[in-house]
Amino acid sequence: MSEDTPRKDAFIEMVTAKASVELRLSDYHPRSMLVVPEHGARRPRFPVIDYHNHLDAQDPRSVLRVMDECGVELIVNITMRVGREALDMIFKYQMAAPGRFATYGWMDWSDLQSPGFFRRTVDRFEDLVAHGACGLKLWKDLGTSISDAQGKLLPVDDERLAPLFEKAAELGVPIMFHTSDPDAFFLPIDPENERYEELAAHPEWSFHGSHFSKQELLAQRDRVFARHPKTTFVAAHVAERPENLEYVGHLLETYPNVFVDIGARCAELGRQPYTARKFFLKYSDRILFGTDLVPESEMYRLHFRFLESDDQYFEYPSHASRQGRWNIYGLFLPDEVLRRVYRDNASRILKRPL
Ligand SMILES: [Zn+2]
Repeated sequence: MSEDTPRKDAFIEMVTAKASVELRLSDYHPRSMLVVPEHGARRPRFPVIDYHNHLDAQDPRSVLRVMDECGVELIVNITMRVGREALDMIFKYQMAAPGRFATYGWMDWSDLQSPGFFRRTVDRFEDLVAHGACGLKLWKDLGTSISDAQGKLLPVDDERLAPLFEKAAELGVPIMFHTSDPDAFFLPIDPENERYEELAAHPEWSFHGSHFSKQELLAQRDRVFARHPKTTFVAAHVAERPENLEYVGHLLETYPNVFVDIGARCAELGRQPYTARKFFLKYSDRILFGTDLVPESEMYRLHFRFLESDDQYFEYPSHASRQGRWNIYGLFLPDEVLRRVYRDNASRILKRPL
């Protein structure tokens, strides 16, 4: 061998070897070989209020069976019905088991194009609350697709909605905002997107290429929090920014009238257990337990495992298309934190006895 022909080195060969693999991503289901302790909590350590769920399609009796089995004291049903149907939904759950369900109203945009809409909206909200609604939810269509009579996109902080938020303060019920979506939904659906499979299953969830940015949408929402300090707001899904808990912490410190729920965000929180645990300890009086998933025993148990145990690397509770290819770690929250997050914070907002 001449001097300038590099010699093959067994170690360098080993560490540089690569293969181009052909395997359909949807056929790839690796199973973890880790042998680590497992604490599958069957019931929560304290009674639970699920502050974020959607029960319109459920039979109250089967939901109650799951609740009793899993130690869930109450579920807040965020109805997606409006008008007469919303009132019927409130009634249906009140009748099924008084004290075990509460209902949030859903913003009715159907007559936005007709004059007097903003006034009617306040009246409708008052009517919902008079019939027992415990809050009103504004969804991500506000700011992204709802247009006024002039065809102009309605920003989340449109001044014409101010009387609605003031009415909430007067009635003593919160407004819940689901504004925007995960960061990855604003990026191209490409091999670098960490939620590729989820977006492939729901391409309509992608906001990539929109003329509005996530940052701008959240800024609009946060301006509403600032303008209505007497109104209680729930920023759903960890304020839609669980990817950046520093931002959420800052939000909670800036606006004492804001709570966050953890609905459908165990995946995000559980993949950053050190940061998430500190966040829960620091803001334990501002975080609401919520699931945003079909009530099933296994789904609740995964939540309890996530919040209570120090289990490592297990599947997060999720809808069928999953949220990303990772697993989560338990937060082993102390009792006083669990009590607040599971129940006491929600009880305060719902004006139930602690
Ligand atoms: Zn929801």
